[in-house]
Amino acid sequence: MALMGQMMAGSLLISSLIKHAARHAAETEIVSKRVEGDLHRYTWRDAELRSRKVAQALAGLGCQAGDRVATLAWNGYRHLEIYYGSSGSELVCHTINPRLFPEQIAWIANDAQDLVLCFDLNFLPLIEKLAAQMSSVKHFVLMTDRAHMPAQTGINELLCYEELVEAENGDYDWPEFDENTASSICYTSGTTGHPKGAVYSHRSSVLHAYGSALPDAMGCSALDVILPVVPMFHVNAWGLPYSCALVGCKLVMPGPHMDGKSLFELFENEGVTFSAGVPTVWLGLLTYMKANQLKFSSFKRTVIGGAACPPAMMRTLEDDFGVEVIHAWGMTEMSPLGTLSKLTARQMSLPTEAQRRLLEKQGKVIYGVDMAVSDDEGNELPWDGVSSGNLLVRGPWVIKSYFGQTGSPLVSLNGQPGWFPTGDVATIDSYGFMQITDRSKDVIKSGGEWISSIELENIAMAHPAVFEAAVIACAHPKWDERPLLVVIKKPDAELSREQLLEFFEGQIPKWQIPDDVVFVTEIPHTATGKIQKLKLRDQFRTYRLPGLPTV
Ligand code: AMP
Repeated sequence: MALMGQMMAGSLLISSLIKHAARHAAETEIVSKRVEGDLHRYTWRDAELRSRKVAQALAGLGCQAGDRVATLAWNGYRHLEIYYGSSGSELVCHTINPRLFPEQIAWIANDAQDLVLCFDLNFLPLIEKLAAQMSSVKHFVLMTDRAHMPAQTGINELLCYEELVEAENGDYDWPEFDENTASSICYTSGTTGHPKGAVYSHRSSVLHAYGSALPDAMGCSALDVILPVVPMFHVNAWGLPYSCALVGCKLVMPGPHMDGKSLFELFENEGVTFSAGVPTVWLGLLTYMKANQLKFSSFKRTVIGGAACPPAMMRTLEDDFGVEVIHAWGMTEMSPLGTLSKLTARQMSLPTEAQRRLLEKQGKVIYGVDMAVSDDEGNELPWDGVSSGNLLVRGPWVIKSYFGQTGSPLVSLNGQPGWFPTGDVATIDSYGFMQITDRSKDVIKSGGEWISSIELENIAMAHPAVFEAAVIACAHPKWDERPLLVVIKKPDAELSREQLLEFFEGQIPKWQIPDDVVFVTEIPHTATGKIQKLKLRDQFRTYRLPGLPTV
């Protein structure tokens, strides 16, 4: 009979992270640039106390275990308190991406059956328009103080966050419960149809916080000052609100102020050493710094991911600004971290250029994630750096199903079930460095945000002069990818590029409208009649969008 370990049991709960920070990094600061414009600072001890008050306030609103508390908010201390106050009290924190189209925001809130919606001051006009469509939301909470509450609003019984918090005494013990309980939900815009929810558990979030803080991963330390530029609505800011509590470091949050000047001042004034964000955010910061001949005095390392980091950006940050770039890959369904590009002892003797080429790849998995590339029949492909196939992953912080969906997204590898197909196409080299080479899912990633090509195609197809439409991603130096609309006109129909682009207005957010239209006479199809996106992408690989210099 097996001998059981004789160690203390105890669930891995998100509340344990903030309890730890409050006890062992009590005086360490959390600094937030508020939506209201000023700077707020307090400590992990204060954050934990106020998170307990949030838990009490949510219970006071009638929330019960499993109920969803949604946020529509930038990175800031109140958002952090809702993270911990809701998840810690067995509620589920549902972070909504405010960059989505308003109707999609309402759809997501209804799908998740959110009971409470907490939102930043600058989203008041949006929520005033949407409140009536959010049928499950019983309580709307404006994340501000009494002085900033609107004198008049169309929202019934709009609650004031600060009043709710201050009415509580904080006399609250974080409850113990099963670590597999849901802690938070994040929706990802899928290939087809509506966005889908990834439901994280306490266990997966705590394990991810451990794994991502390791030296060969993000390498978070109590000595760091960490500023997540990645929003808290994008896969929990890549877990940083949790890993920063785990290591007890200073946390700096920029609120909505993400222009180059504001970010630079915050980096310098607060002594930021480490940051994380999608490639696009660094462009604004670097342009501002170059124009003003500025240098960082404390900033040493950054994780760049969510979209491929252009090698030129890595070099600029490293060579001109002395900032180490850690290229990372992951996805909402993976909490999100999968791989990071860090050298191991084996690559130390390689020439610098060879090392750099490795670091430009998406990198090696961290413990907690297993990965493989497979052919279309589910057979594993060799790790030779050239065989490119479907990238599959598995592990305790990878989803096994989507919220509210029947049917499993998982596939088999060499006949063994239980692998999540990422929709990315990749190679893995003999060192174990993975490189994304393409994407089989039908989406475009612009500035780190998804655009559904199918949604764009559906709109184009609704135009009376369009016979067939296909949307593909086209390379763009700032946004990484932008949508290109390829169209076959109906015989004898009159249709200009401008008329077709105008047709999109009001149907999707402006930033999702294709950058260009190409009229063709043929679009390639598979034997089953599907558009061959890979072939089409190949056909337009060198296409230059309007306004971009030709190479
Ligand atoms: P999301 O769920 O929004 O975080 O998007 C995840 C997807 O973004 C991945 O499946 C990739 O297609 C893409 N992605 C994330 N990181 C990278 C990267 N470093 N390089 C290329 N694509 C990436």
